[in-house]
Amino acid sequence: MKIQFLGTSAAEGIPALFCHCSVCNQARKEKNRNVRTRSQALIDDCLLIDFGPDTFFHALKYDINLADINHCLITHVHDDHFYISDLKARRRSRANLKPGTPPLNVYGSLDVQNELKPDCDGFVTKDRSVLYHQLLPFSELKIEDYSVIALPAVHNTSNPFVYVIKKEKTMLYAHDTDIFEDKTWKFLQSKKIKFDLVSLDCTEGKKSIDYPGHMNFERMTLFCKIMKQLFLIDEETLVFANHFSHNGLVYYQEACEIGNSLGFSITYDGLVVNF
Ligand SMILES: [Zn+2]
Ligand SMILES: [Zn+2]
Ligand SMILES: [Zn+2]
Repeated sequence: MKIQFLGTSAAEGIPALFCHCSVCNQARKEKNRNVRTRSQALIDDCLLIDFGPDTFFHALKYDINLADINHCLITHVHDDHFYISDLKARRRSRANLKPGTPPLNVYGSLDVQNELKPDCDGFVTKDRSVLYHQLLPFSELKIEDYSVIALPAVHNTSNPFVYVIKKEKTMLYAHDTDIFEDKTWKFLQSKKIKFDLVSLDCTEGKKSIDYPGHMNFERMTLFCKIMKQLFLIDEETLVFANHFSHNGLVYYQEACEIGNSLGFSITYDGLVVNF
């Protein structure tokens, strides 16, 4: 399998739109891996995760024709992950799709449904070019050759998800979540899942956290400790810290040094991992 990290930041991006902080100043100066766009990932060039405000830029930068993408999983409705106006630009008054082009299948929770307001057949646009599929917590569905499980995230929207994605390998994409609730750990344990790759929320980097809903290096370490105890990961598992905020007080190089000491790899925009 392959994961391409198209964007790796939290809501503000790095450098943030309006900011004088040292992380943003450094990113403006050094650029390269210090610059992060809003989080989005592409699995095996065909399964998109999230549709945030930088989707247009990602399509340009990574040479992706979104008209050829048939499936998109939405984690939750915060605007760094779900930019509905551009999603609706798939309608035929804006997009010249080849005859026979299938609809873009968009999967997500009830929150996503409430935003998309699909018709009774699930279609979001009148020309039927975007089709919504509702997912329930712990539901498992087949998308082409993939098996996808929606897990409840611990985050401050009403129905946020993170996703388990399985084909030859098994991965967990877990951003905008805190440490899972017991019922989620129990579910994963009952499924006897062993993850080959895990990508975890590191919004707050080296800053301490006094609120629920995101993680930092410290909480990521605890998250991984629980996963190891439940045999969900082992020393072979690739663990990535991802979804960084400028408020997390780390530059790319510094994040790599901290990650090295803890056994985590650090994502950057454009990173491709074959696993
Ligand atoms: Zn986010
Ligand atoms: Zn900043
Ligand atoms: Zn969020």
